[in-house]
Amino acid sequence: MKIRRKSDKMGFFDKLFKKSSSTDQDILWLYIQCDHCGEKVTVRVNPRGDLVAESGETPSSCYTLHKEAMDDKCYRIIKIYIEFDANRRILKQEIQGGKFIEKN
Ligand SMILES: [Zn+2]
Repeated sequence: MKIRRKSDKMGFFDKLFKKSSSTDQDILWLYIQCDHCGEKVTVRVNPRGDLVAESGETPSSCYTLHKEAMDDKCYRIIKIYIEFDANRRILKQEIQGGKFIEKN
């Protein structure tokens, strides 16, 4: 009897991911792609730890995020900067060394 190991495994990880993302509602996922090699990277952002509250100077944004990501193909650092409003909606996003992509 042959077991289709590969598809079973994918289903398992799919379930695992969905389970963890629904229990951890605060976690924000960024999907980026390396400019150099095209490798896609998923960046996990924990708003409680990663977002910095802005004070006064920039009234439009309430939180900023500075994050560095690295793909596992060419190991170049991709720098991410995002501004959020009080409801943690993205107001502005900048990236160096890569680009933002849709979740696939
Ligand atoms: Zn790369």
